[in-house]
Amino acid sequence: MRLVILGGGESGIGTAILGKKKGYDVFVSDFGKIKENYKEVLIINEIAWEEEKHTEDLILNADLVMKSPGIPEKSPIVKKLIEKGIPVLSEIEFAAPYTNATIIGITGSNGKTTTTMLAYHLLKSAGLNVGLGGNIGKSFAWQVADNDYESYVLELSSFQLDGIVNFKPHIAIITNISPDHLDRYDYKYENYIDSKFRITMNQTEDDYLIYDADDEAIAEWFKTHTTKAKLIPFSLTKTFSEGAYIKNNKMEISINQEEFTMDTEHIALEGKHNMKNAMAATSVAKLMQIRKSTIRESLSNFQGVEHRLEKVLKIQNVQYINDSKATNVNATFFALDSMNTPTVWIVGGVDKGNDYNELMSLVREKVKAIICLGVDNKKIIDAFGNVVDMMVEVDNMNDAVRMAQRLTEKGDTVLLSPACASFDLFENYEDRGNQFKQAVKNL
Ligand code: ADP
Repeated sequence: MRLVILGGGESGIGTAILGKKKGYDVFVSDFGKIKENYKEVLIINEIAWEEEKHTEDLILNADLVMKSPGIPEKSPIVKKLIEKGIPVLSEIEFAAPYTNATIIGITGSNGKTTTTMLAYHLLKSAGLNVGLGGNIGKSFAWQVADNDYESYVLELSSFQLDGIVNFKPHIAIITNISPDHLDRYDYKYENYIDSKFRITMNQTEDDYLIYDADDEAIAEWFKTHTTKAKLIPFSLTKTFSEGAYIKNNKMEISINQEEFTMDTEHIALEGKHNMKNAMAATSVAKLMQIRKSTIRESLSNFQGVEHRLEKVLKIQNVQYINDSKATNVNATFFALDSMNTPTVWIVGGVDKGNDYNELMSLVREKVKAIICLGVDNKKIIDAFGNVVDMMVEVDNMNDAVRMAQRLTEKGDTVLLSPACASFDLFENYEDRGNQFKQAVKNL
């Protein structure tokens, strides 16, 4: 059996290792360059590969193809494979049959990484033999090949879910859905929503779907679709006999006739959106039968993930917060919502079709000045020019942070939450967040 892998990144190399171990004739093809350390792995494992090209003769003879999530379905080579009827799968679809582990799959537009890391922290702290993978950390397939675990917490993008056929997580989470990546979904929001819900399509009555019951797109989907999985909703406003909710500043979870309660003030994560993430991750811990005392301790010591509402420093009583990972309006909405003091907001970058109206009332209420940090700031200026007293344009992070310092008074907050992608001025959101932190440290 010939397994061709398109894309020589983390998931591609991991799949190659697993494929080789399972006896496939493996070939890795990357249209860009493959990193040196990955090349070494391929050479040591005697796996054939090419870079900076796709040689059709070596690809179109595949029995099975694993496509890395970064490669669009519309790319010419993928189109040709599909025309020939060759199955094109994602890493999780290929690897899942080779493990008996309990799989927890987490998808959504925002909050995937935070929820995944928190769920992993809850299970790991309880002593479970658990792996972390998907979009973060080490490739899932690689872990299955090397040192299989008893359970996995996997962060799953819609692109990974597009490439599944039989993949079925025992526990699935949809954190929320808002428009994102529409360029890959023919600019149709329905297609993107359907793609997220693929996470539950193979689930049975023995499986669970945990989801945000406050989310409009999710509620709409349920009007016309069903799933066999047992439903565990979570909400900031509603209450459930089976599910998770916040009431009187307490997180309440009721699952399989068992209750769990915790004061939200003891949860280390802050902000409403993080209460949602905490409810989702704690529901997983309950389903995995983790003890209440262990859950409490883990929720109170989990400090969050870098670049997600990360508190950097307090200088002259001004708090600097790095939310560089906020690359869409919805993420920034929750960041602004969790601000408790007058805020100087650093925003901008590459806009993926943003509608800033959704932020209008929060900006009116919380933002005293806006610093536009992007190559093209016109949309932001048009949206908020008349809403805030002060608006400044800068083109690098040092100027942004210095300007922010000038505009603050004791007790204020400086928030980097761009609502945009970063590649006009930065390599990626990590680079943007790191430059912000460095600039703050240099003040
Ligand atoms: P993802 O992996 O889905 O991109 P992250 O956990 O990395 O999610 O968070 C991305 C951004 O979204 C951050 O700016 C974070 O503050 C914000 N965020 C986190 N959880 C939520 C949520 N439940 N709803 C909305 N925004 C969120």
